[in-house]
Parts: sequence; C-alpha cells; structure tokens
Amino acid sequence: MKMTPSASLLLLLLLGLCQAHPLMEEGGEEEISDTVDITTQILTSNNGTDEILLEGDLLAPRTRNAMVCWYQSCMWKKASNGLVMIPFTVSSEFTSWERQLIDYAMNTYHSKTCIRFVPRQNEYDYISIENKAGCFSSLGRTGGRQVLSLNRQGCLYYGIIQHEINHALGFQHEQTRSDRDYYVRINWENIDPQMAYNFYKQNTNNLDTPYDYSSIMHYGRTAFSIQYGKDSITPIPDPNVQIGQRQGMSYWDIMRINMLYGC
Ligand SMILES: [Zn+2]
Repeated sequence: MKMTPSASLLLLLLLGLCQAHPLMEEGGEEEISDTVDITTQILTSNNGTDEILLEGDLLAPRTRNAMVCWYQSCMWKKASNGLVMIPFTVSSEFTSWERQLIDYAMNTYHSKTCIRFVPRQNEYDYISIENKAGCFSSLGRTGGRQVLSLNRQGCLYYGIIQHEINHALGFQHEQTRSDRDYYVRINWENIDPQMAYNFYKQNTNNLDTPYDYSSIMHYGRTAFSIQYGKDSITPIPDPNVQIGQRQGMSYWDIMRINMLYGC
C-alpha cells in the first residue's frame, strides 16, 4: 500500500495523539503499546520543546563538550562509605502518584548499584526533576542545579525515567557507541540530513562491555526516520534483533553503572 503524504501525516498525528496521554489511567508502565518503543515515546513527547536537544533528549551543554564529560569530572562523587549520593528535588507539579513512580524507578539503582538518590538539603550539585516540555536530561553531572525533565503527559514510565537518569549519570545512547558500525547499520537515506547529527558516533567509554541491543539507552529502529515505517537503525547481521526496549535497565546497563562508579 502506498500512502499519500497527507494520509501518512494524519496517521503520524493520530499515533502522536494516542501517545500523548497514556500514563495515569491504568497505572504502571503497561499502557505504552507494545508497538511503541522508548524512542518513539521520548521523541513524540519532545516534539515542540524549546530546548536545544541532542539525539532527541540530551540537553545541549552550554559550557563544555559533552563527549569529554565521560572521562572528566562530570561523574557524581562517591562518599567515604562507598555510596554515590545524588541529591534531587521533585517539582510540586507532580502528584504523589507520579512521585511514587519516580521513586519506584530510582529504587532499582538503590537495590542494584551504589547510587543513592537522596532528597536535597543544601547541596550545591543536584538533579531537579521537573515537568518541562519533554523527556530530557543533561549528560553527567554538570555542576549546580541540573534539570531532568519528565513531562507529565508522556515521560512518566519506569523505563523512560531510568533512561533519563542514566544520561544524568553520564551514559550516552548505545547506538552512538564508537564501535556501533559492527552491530547496527545506520540507514542515512531514511534520515533527514538536518537530523543526521543525531546518529554521529561519539567517543564513548564502552567499559569493555559488549554492544547491548537490549540497553535501555538504545534507540528504536525508526528513530528520526523520515520514511514512515522504515528503519533508521537496523541491527546487523540479524535485522530482527529487538532494539529500543523500554521495560527497564538491562543486565549491562546495571553492570556499567557499577563499573563506571566502582560500586
Ligand atoms: Zn536519551
């Protein structure tokens, strides 16, 4: 079937509307339809934000090169007890139910890593969780207050919250890994040239861990595709490998936190 441009536009619009308010009605993370991957959800939520975002949901750094961040001082500091305490605040715009969901997503870090999210008292560096226009975060610790946005209408899912938290811990998107060309093919012909920078490889610290298709930091196969339904990212050699999952951190997502922070 060949769709006219206006028909496909309408379909996109309808898809967008379906995803626009999927969260509170039934509770939990189950309401994202199985056909909607985490990237689609994040990118849909971020349509129309005024922020300058890299790769769809990374706040453009204003004072430093994000790529250098990985190796430099933008990790959160470890206390003498071996725990990495990360102060945070949550905007009062969130309901108590939404705050519980955020707590729930954070609990995995508490049980599986040495990261501890603690309510801010007067610490200088902290994460401010806010209901801005989209799901986005800075990369690593920026110094001072740093916004992690979880729009109430599209970002309050267990997996998306963890995806954005992982950015704040210093993790980049899996498909921008320096060695990604061995594991995925980028279909440049399906990507708007103006958006091509979202697929540039980064000088990532891969921590000697395998490429992880199941990472919560991996984008879905149609991210930024301008050809409706066509892949922008295709796993190789097996194109049927799943990417873009949104259930929660993978084994390697958790391992990497423990490795990076020396837990
Ligand atoms: Zn992201």
